[in-house]
Amino acid sequence: MSLFEHPDFDQHEQVSFFHDPKTGLKALIAVHNTHLGPSLGGCRMWPYASSEEALTDVLRLSKGMTYKAAVAGLPQGGGKAVIIGNPRADKTQELMYAMGRSVDTFKGQYIIAEDSGISVQDLQYMASESHHVAGTSAKFAYDGTPADGNPAPSTAYGVFMGIQAAVKHATGQSLEGKTVAIQGVGHVGLRLARHLKNAGANLIVADIFNEGLEVAKNELGATVIDPQQIHAAKADVFAPCAMGGAINPKSLPEIRAAIVAGAANNQLSSPQMGEALFARDILYVPDYVINAGGIIDIYHQRNESSAHAMRMQIEQIGQTISEILNRARDQNCPTEQVADQIAEEKFRPQQS
Ligand code: NAD
Repeated sequence: MSLFEHPDFDQHEQVSFFHDPKTGLKALIAVHNTHLGPSLGGCRMWPYASSEEALTDVLRLSKGMTYKAAVAGLPQGGGKAVIIGNPRADKTQELMYAMGRSVDTFKGQYIIAEDSGISVQDLQYMASESHHVAGTSAKFAYDGTPADGNPAPSTAYGVFMGIQAAVKHATGQSLEGKTVAIQGVGHVGLRLARHLKNAGANLIVADIFNEGLEVAKNELGATVIDPQQIHAAKADVFAPCAMGGAINPKSLPEIRAAIVAGAANNQLSSPQMGEALFARDILYVPDYVINAGGIIDIYHQRNESSAHAMRMQIEQIGQTISEILNRARDQNCPTEQVADQIAEEKFRPQQS
């Protein structure tokens, strides 16, 4: 297994492998860049088929966190952790303690948070072994309502800001009367649907489970369609809010919306999909820019900030997106390339 030669190595500052024979912990922690501040990123527990697969995942994810934090204007770097194992079968309290001790070896240069396979309870176990654990409790939500620790309300509000900015950029108009097709009405998608409805938009929704669909239909008057068809819905905006890879060689030619803007991570199945959207004149709002509300939430909860400061920074997502879209138009290039440039200008130390 190569590390420095790995295609996703990309100048990582530190990559550590942890093995605790007593608990069976096998984990990797990658710190991509700490130029702007200590690295922050979630921990994923997944039954990776090989350590190569785990390494590729942790390298890609930690790099993504650097870009996300930089564009969001947070004094944070990017890092990520993966635990090799099945969260349903292999997770124990002792394993989480061992993970907490592993995190502590970074002495604050890596702050761990939640990702798939890891719960708030797991983080609380880790927090008994290290101070460098985020997302164990939440004090406030961006709108002043009580918070339950789930950053989805902040993520949804940021995505709403981003969609508003993109529609304004493309049409000069507000969301009133526009149609948004939402793929996945889960924690983020359903909250996004409420914001859009309040702004006067029409909703088309799809999900593979009924729960969110019922609410969207009955409370918000959304039209429910087949999940296989949501990307091709006749809408002004397609908002992927389910899993990654919504924009792929099969879905791309069928997209009818002029704008793609949603919460899902890794929406482009490959970098070529960004070029292909650009070639089709579809305005793509880079995923890691529009879905930064969650990390902004975690940052403010951890740094004894206020709901007001958090809300201001989430609303800034809309302005950042306007800047990216304007710059991409002026440079006649794909939007995600501009977002990457902006991030790199911030976190790569000036070459002397
Ligand atoms: P979630 O699991 O609550 O919701 C996802 C929804 O998508 C579920 O209802 C699921 O049934 C549905 N779904 C899955 N596959 C589908 C398909 N093929 N077609 C239609 N629907 C499908 O997750 P979430 O917290 O709402 O996150 C949604 C996305 O946003 C994820 O990609 C996540 O990584 C990303 N994201 C979330 C946050 C956050 O704060 N929760 C922050 C940043 C990014």
